[in-house]
Amino acid sequence: MFNKILIANRGEIALRVIRAAREMGIGTVAVHSTADSDAMHVRMADESVCVGPPSSMQSYLSIPAIIAACEITGAEAIHPGYGFLSENANFVQIVQDHGLTFIGPTAEHIRVMGDKITAKDTMKKLGVPCVPGSAGGVATLEEAKALGAEMGYPVIIKATAGGGGKGMKVAETANDMERAFQTARAEGKSNFGNDEVYIEKYLTTPRHIEIQVFGDGKGRAVHLGERDCSLQRRHQKVFEEAPGPAISPEERARIGKVCADAMADINYIGAGTIEFLYEKGEFYFIEMNTRLQVEHPVTEAIFGVDLVREQIRVASGMDMSFQQEDLQINGHSIEVRINAEKLPNFSPCPGRITQYHAPGGLGVRMDSALYDGYSIPPYYDSLIGKLIVHGRDRPEALARLHRALGELIVDGVDTTVPLFHALLAEPDVLSGDYNIHWLEHWLETNLGNA
Ligand code: ADP
Repeated sequence: MFNKILIANRGEIALRVIRAAREMGIGTVAVHSTADSDAMHVRMADESVCVGPPSSMQSYLSIPAIIAACEITGAEAIHPGYGFLSENANFVQIVQDHGLTFIGPTAEHIRVMGDKITAKDTMKKLGVPCVPGSAGGVATLEEAKALGAEMGYPVIIKATAGGGGKGMKVAETANDMERAFQTARAEGKSNFGNDEVYIEKYLTTPRHIEIQVFGDGKGRAVHLGERDCSLQRRHQKVFEEAPGPAISPEERARIGKVCADAMADINYIGAGTIEFLYEKGEFYFIEMNTRLQVEHPVTEAIFGVDLVREQIRVASGMDMSFQQEDLQINGHSIEVRINAEKLPNFSPCPGRITQYHAPGGLGVRMDSALYDGYSIPPYYDSLIGKLIVHGRDRPEALARLHRALGELIVDGVDTTVPLFHALLAEPDVLSGDYNIHWLEHWLETNLGNA
């Protein structure tokens, strides 16, 4: 086992990793930009190193600065959290070349899954069901139009390098194709430096269902059920739950086994998420995330496992502490993402927190790096906290969420908390009857938000 690890991240996820490491008796090194000198992850870690100015390009994304911080402090391994360098295959290679351990999958797996075309191709070969679409990239508008006519509209044009909801455009009819094709390419080019696109059938009423997988890199892999993350705004998740209200135990066992077998086949190591759209009883693979997800706590809640601890274990060469038959679902869990954003437009709202009080009590977990007097810097993501509740069943989890949201105090900045209060009054949310378009429609109707 490692003596000391470095966490190449900030905010709540850096705290999350520090907590797991501390319980395992492992020393922790935080890195931070000059804008984050007073951040909670810096205070909580055993040691900290300033890695650059506020811009993430020059700090949290600066590979030389992160590697140097390991060398200065003697950290043996790096946990990347999510975002930043977590899915950067080049970084993983450099980490290894310096004799350090990356707590996550191999550079090769990150590379394969980071390109959506090769990911889909690989998954198809491994027997994972995929959304019908083009066989690989689509190079010209003529080709795209021919495919649209053949597959039938609507279709979605996706940048192979896309992520975070960028580089995806829907063509409702043949008339939209030119605009959708050119925009997806342009977004792929400007955001990810790659203008290759592919085409998929656009599903009109799916749910977003993702399977948590975990491998030991030695040919063993398990699944930890699904999360339903259908409540999204601009393809970004805001409310996640496990188990999925629409998924039966038989469906879970079936798709879970397909995913676990696929991961065993490729000797996957660490945590991963295989994302699907689910419509009319069928699962369609869309992409794989080769890292810990923001919403991993709902899975931890219902299975009673610590996924970060497992990540650290397998990265150090140990076995997973569970096998498939040990993983039994207990109750229901929901997470809401609390962002420093102003409704109705969700515009970022950085600033000073004048008062902060986290909710508590049975079945409540608040993952946040906030504290009284903290100033949220304007340079990074607007996520300031995740409220996770766990109950014996879905109604209990919903009641607990309602109660916990009522206890939460975040003064000084606008947050997305009022959105969740409003959603908890919606019959569809209470009954779990929603798909990936539900929230956008609701926002349009209730907040005039487009
Ligand atoms: P990103 O990498 O940007 O997160 P994904 O491929 O994971 O992109 O898709 C994000 C979201 O976009 C999905 O959860 C879903 O809401 C929507 N989406 C993606 N592909 C399709 C599709 N073929 N049909 C309908 N919606 C889709």
